[in-house]
Amino acid sequence: MLSLPIDAVLPEIVTQLRARGTLVLRAPTGAGKTTRVPPALLDAGLASRGQIVLLEPRRIAARAAAARMARERDVRLGIEIGYQVRFDSRCARETRIVAVTEGILLRKLQTDPFLEGVDIVVFDEFHERNLSSDLALGMVRRVQQEVRPDLKIVVMSATLDPGPIAAYLGGAPTVESLGRTFPVSIEYLKQRDRRSITEAAAWGVEQVFHKTDGHILVFLPGVGEIHKTSRELEEFARRQQVKIWPLYGDLPPEEQDQVLAPSSQRKIVLATNVAETSVTIDGVTAVVDTGVARVLRFDPLVGLDRLEIEPISQSSADQRAGRAGRTAPGICLRLWEEVSHRHRPEQTEPEIRRVDLSGPLLQLKSWGEPDALLFPWFEPPRADAVAQAELLLHRLGACDCNGRLTELGSQLAQLPTHPRLARLLLAGQQSGEARRAAWLAALLEERDPFMRPRPGMNRGGPPVSAVSHHSQSDVLDRLGALEEAERGGTIDFPWGTLHRGSASHLARVRDQLLRDLRDLQLPPAVDDDSEASTDERLLRALVTAFPDRVAKRRAVGSDKGIMVGGRGVKLGPQSCVRTGELFLCTDVDAGQTDAIVRQASLVLPEWLPPTSLRTQTDLFFHPTQKQVVARRRDYFEDLILSETPCALPDTDAPAE
Ligand code: ADP
Ligand code: MG
Repeated sequence: MLSLPIDAVLPEIVTQLRARGTLVLRAPTGAGKTTRVPPALLDAGLASRGQIVLLEPRRIAARAAAARMARERDVRLGIEIGYQVRFDSRCARETRIVAVTEGILLRKLQTDPFLEGVDIVVFDEFHERNLSSDLALGMVRRVQQEVRPDLKIVVMSATLDPGPIAAYLGGAPTVESLGRTFPVSIEYLKQRDRRSITEAAAWGVEQVFHKTDGHILVFLPGVGEIHKTSRELEEFARRQQVKIWPLYGDLPPEEQDQVLAPSSQRKIVLATNVAETSVTIDGVTAVVDTGVARVLRFDPLVGLDRLEIEPISQSSADQRAGRAGRTAPGICLRLWEEVSHRHRPEQTEPEIRRVDLSGPLLQLKSWGEPDALLFPWFEPPRADAVAQAELLLHRLGACDCNGRLTELGSQLAQLPTHPRLARLLLAGQQSGEARRAAWLAALLEERDPFMRPRPGMNRGGPPVSAVSHHSQSDVLDRLGALEEAERGGTIDFPWGTLHRGSASHLARVRDQLLRDLRDLQLPPAVDDDSEASTDERLLRALVTAFPDRVAKRRAVGSDKGIMVGGRGVKLGPQSCVRTGELFLCTDVDAGQTDAIVRQASLVLPEWLPPTSLRTQTDLFFHPTQKQVVARRRDYFEDLILSETPCALPDTDAPAE
């Protein structure tokens, strides 16, 4: 077996973990953490009864780690060593080391709250700080402290400052290992670049191509950009007789293996940030870095998290550059200016600081911790973000006024999607519209599958396409368009052209949501409102999922309105909604004084939560008083009428 830098410290890792039960390991990328540490712990007998769970932030890394460990031990994948990720699992009863993604570990914690069958949990790439891994770490740490002192925790990373995490783990021993690295010379752009990301990336490849003879690794924000850059480089690659390889999380496993496999032929690898620290391609000597990544960020106007393209931190950029110097000296071309480099944040902001907390809090409640402020977070979330999430969960009917999970809440917690969309699915199922509700949920969750209108098409005016949509709802029009396209009809609509790839992706998401819904084994729908049309039933379901995104027109015929909570909004010219008193906002863009509603739906007052329309009582978790207070306020204008500590009966919870 090839010797790796980590080998030298494996004995110390084993000794320290055996003695102390927790351990922090820092070693550079490529040192051998992922592939060598779990087998060493197994061979030392540290997991005598149960499994070693290796937590990876990405599917691709979980699969690759398991495959690599199995190969190094010369065993078949899926017996002693296996992996489990969403949609794909290879493990057996006798599996001793299982590489999993965060979602899988969180689900395991729900069904087996004390992790009975597990001896060691290894948190890999902990510096990524996904909210799910923060949540899982807190849960595992609490299990270790309160019920299972024998449970062992290892936290590994290439870049993490070991101090705070070692302190969090009760003064855990820290082991560090040096990797072999070679110098990487860094080049910047001379001036500001006006080209698109993909044009610049393709140009960058041509710049570095003759300066080195190893593989070239290009960092791009997403799959779309990877395919586009690949097309832009086609001609160049043909001339130079090199092959272009995409590398991203959803790549089929066989293709993944081929990219990672050692090869004497020169490769140009176009990757997302999976190649930053998660997987290693040997023999890279040049990196072209576009300097951006897609990150999740809460969009308060829409009330959901959105993937946004943002500049990466200095620390990420250094990691990316380091990929060029693993086997020989290398070069890194950064597609931004040196002067702007120091304006980038030093570290990536952890997800817990930037995303919606309602999903994680729902998970916590369902695990048995109703109060997020009492949970042992590695880094606590902001109290106002917790309060916001509590309020939303209450509005969705997921918890009572004391923050405790309701039965509805426990059903929502079992659906692996945002609580709002889970609520939409359940409401859809209850009214016999599960399939269309799942499609709607997919549409709201994923990126808009419609590309900008082609020139010459009527833009802005009311939609006039072949679809029979007088639904008074932009999202339902889009849903109708998807349905029409799936039946083989047109893909051109007044608001844009349907991107076929995105449409089939949405259909897959829809089918997965439907399977998740079926797994809940709910009683069949009771159709108590047979008068209502399918559109009306869907819109009602949408209101239960977005009760705080309803807006009321300022005056009859005005395109301006006030959203629940007091935010001023204006119906955009793209929206088909022109009449009615109330409308629901599902796609909102920050405007100057009023936010612009790109997608709206006409709703009726009787669909709203059955509190009085003009005044509404919110239950609000008061961060300083550390208790729930009842806040009575004007539903739309956010005038606070009164605030009292909560002693409310449950009957005030939103009715079903
Ligand atoms: P770390 O987790 O510290 O970044 P890894 O354990 O992933 O390091 O990898 C250690 C070394 O093993 C790498 O430097 C690489 O040489 C080799 N390696 C790992 N996975 C593969 C693979 N799938 N194919 C070929 N080599 C691999
Ligand atoms: Mg690793």
